[in-house]
Amino acid sequence: MKVLVLNCGSSSLKYQLIDMSNENALASGLCERIGIDGRLKHKGKEEYKAELEMKNHEDAIKIVIDALLDEKHGVISDVKEINAVGHRVVHGGEHFASSVIINEEVIKAIEECIELAPLHNPANLMGIRACESLMPNVPQVAVFDTAFHQTMPEKAYLYGIPYELYEKYKIRRYGFHGTSHKYVSQRAADVLGKDIKDLKIITCHLGNGGSVAAISGGKCQDTSMGFTPLEGLIMGTRCGDIDPAIVPFIMEKEGLDTKEVDTLMNKKSGVLGLSGVSSDFRDIEEAVEKGNKRAKIALDAFHYKVAKYIGEYACALNGVDAIVFTAGLGENGKESRQEICNYLTWLGIEIDEQNNSTRGKEIIISKDNSRIKVLVIPTNEELVIARDTKELLDK
Ligand code: ADP
Repeated sequence: MKVLVLNCGSSSLKYQLIDMSNENALASGLCERIGIDGRLKHKGKEEYKAELEMKNHEDAIKIVIDALLDEKHGVISDVKEINAVGHRVVHGGEHFASSVIINEEVIKAIEECIELAPLHNPANLMGIRACESLMPNVPQVAVFDTAFHQTMPEKAYLYGIPYELYEKYKIRRYGFHGTSHKYVSQRAADVLGKDIKDLKIITCHLGNGGSVAAISGGKCQDTSMGFTPLEGLIMGTRCGDIDPAIVPFIMEKEGLDTKEVDTLMNKKSGVLGLSGVSSDFRDIEEAVEKGNKRAKIALDAFHYKVAKYIGEYACALNGVDAIVFTAGLGENGKESRQEICNYLTWLGIEIDEQNNSTRGKEIIISKDNSRIKVLVIPTNEELVIARDTKELLDK
């Protein structure tokens, strides 16, 4: 079975075609500037880049299919070789605790969640509709970012606001990056040679966006992102946890409306806002090396925040067996991992310098005598989407 995995953003589309007989990615790529002009970066038999008009997601998906079929850089000879499409869908609200085969009812439920993810769900839906029209008989599956976190208990997902607001508007913690947290926690158990049912794991997905999750017996108990991906860690451009009273205060002082203050917190804050340098952790690290004080403060504040969440979740789980780092910075930022773990020596955690310097593979980076294991597990959300798609269709 070959599964096309699609991750549709508002003006971009990431894809992978995965052969499920060996779980190899046959091709992958990215369409950007959809609705503006259109750019394709494709990697199949060969790499291929082009500027091609993409008025909408349907155009983009058509271009992807053409690239997959192309004699030179393609990887299939007939579109019928695509047996299924797996979509990353950001918000499933309380409707979905696992992946589902897409039908009209599912589409309606995803539409109902637009209010909760106004930037993401409409793009995901456009991708689904485009596939329906371009590949009408190919089954489609939705894999939700929020699904893994649906096991959180009420005490973890309710906010301390009037309960009626939860009932009326479903204001609660949902959590995101669920596909990644699920994948890396399972892989960590495999690497440790243990049954995930017997483990308490804290997973740290540290990319441009970041979140931490507390997982017991393979089930999510708590996570740092909330009603939206804005809550939790200090991120590339998002502020993370702040005193909510700061919001009306800034609005009044700076004369901002709701949209502007939302942009300030989502796009201009985080390590970008603190450092004034960049949202990219590599740029921040470089600036720190050159002696930039604000970059140093931003990085310190970020590490401190991640460590505090780990401490909090060690308490929430009443213990912890393993801590996992993943995503761009989690997988590559060895100094960051070290700095975060420096706060955790009270847990008996010691990092093995040599293992911590290894890149791009699953590895235990804590010393052998460390009771709590620390691991780096490269995430692979596309593979989870493809696996869920295959599993649902095999049934
Ligand atoms: P997202 O999917 O959220 O856009 P990624 O998981 O790709 O993000 O992570 C992007 C972040 O990872 C960027 O801030 C980038 O600076 C950081 N990153 C990637 N490689 C490295 C590295 N070698 N050292 C430090 N940070 C890195």
